[in-house]
Amino acid sequence: MTIMLQTDPDHIAISKSKGIEIDWKDGHHSSYGTEYLRDWCPCASCTGSHGTEPRKKTTEAPASPFPMFTPKLKMLSIEPVGTYAMKISWSDGHNTGLYSWEHLREICPCETCKAAKQASQSR
Ligand SMILES: [Zn+2]
Ligand SMILES: [Zn+2]
Repeated sequence: MTIMLQTDPDHIAISKSKGIEIDWKDGHHSSYGTEYLRDWCPCASCTGSHGTEPRKKTTEAPASPFPMFTPKLKMLSIEPVGTYAMKISWSDGHNTGLYSWEHLREICPCETCKAAKQASQSR
């Protein structure tokens, strides 16, 4: 017997320089930019779960009037991990993040999901 998760992707479109788009089995659509995905890397060193400083989220930083030049972040490869996740290797050398479908659905940046998250955070 297999358990059907609500968070299973129906279709995934990958552009290594632009990001990932996912159509979910429940009809929801998510679109993630590369920087956004890198920012939300779920691995221990990026989230600071080993007691280390979490990696700063570039997409949440206030826009600087004098932006430093940073090379455009790209995905070098995306490998499926079982049936529940994918592993992304980044052009900045990072490759320990496993992006599970559940995590991806959780970080969906669309307005509907953002509003739902804010509602659950500020009761
Ligand atoms: Zn990471
Ligand atoms: Zn969403």
